[in-house]
Amino acid sequence: MKALIRHISEYSGADLLLGVFTTDAGAQEARAEYIARYARCCFRDPWARQPYRRVSLTADVAVDRIRACKSCATGAARAKHVTVVSVYSEGFGQVVREIDSAHVLRTCAKRRAAELSQGADSRSFPKYALLQEVAVDRLASDAPGNQPSIGSGLTSARADGAGSRKKPIKRRGSAQR
Ligand SMILES: [Zn+2]
Repeated sequence: MKALIRHISEYSGADLLLGVFTTDAGAQEARAEYIARYARCCFRDPWARQPYRRVSLTADVAVDRIRACKSCATGAARAKHVTVVSVYSEGFGQVVREIDSAHVLRTCAKRRAAELSQGADSRSFPKYALLQEVAVDRLASDAPGNQPSIGSGLTSARADGAGSRKKPIKRRGSAQR
């Protein structure tokens, strides 16, 4: 399986998953569609400005391999939706997303997420796994509400709401608003 990913600045938020595709051709087509969308005047790119990064859609939007879970792959060829598990790690005002796997069964995805969260070292930076459901072979929205909500996996550290994706994550050493 292939994943369409838009890399964004670690200071702005986590990478965006724009879809999961059964073929490379399907993913490339969706990539072209996504890039073309912002080339037209009527769509404003919500990620047009990012700290410490020159935004280039052709460089930032990429097709990557995604591991399809073998334990719940029964009937995967016909699956219309998959649940993607990603691991997020936060530190120094940055957030990094690593896409782990795609699951046909949500229960299986949850199990995998719990497994990954348990494996996280509590002494290091906050690390947690989040789920994102996507339609197979379709370009997904890049709207923040369509992506996993960063910080929702944290129980204490981000109780102040600083994990909200709506505003850029505060940089280390930056002044209070
Ligand atoms: Zn699975």
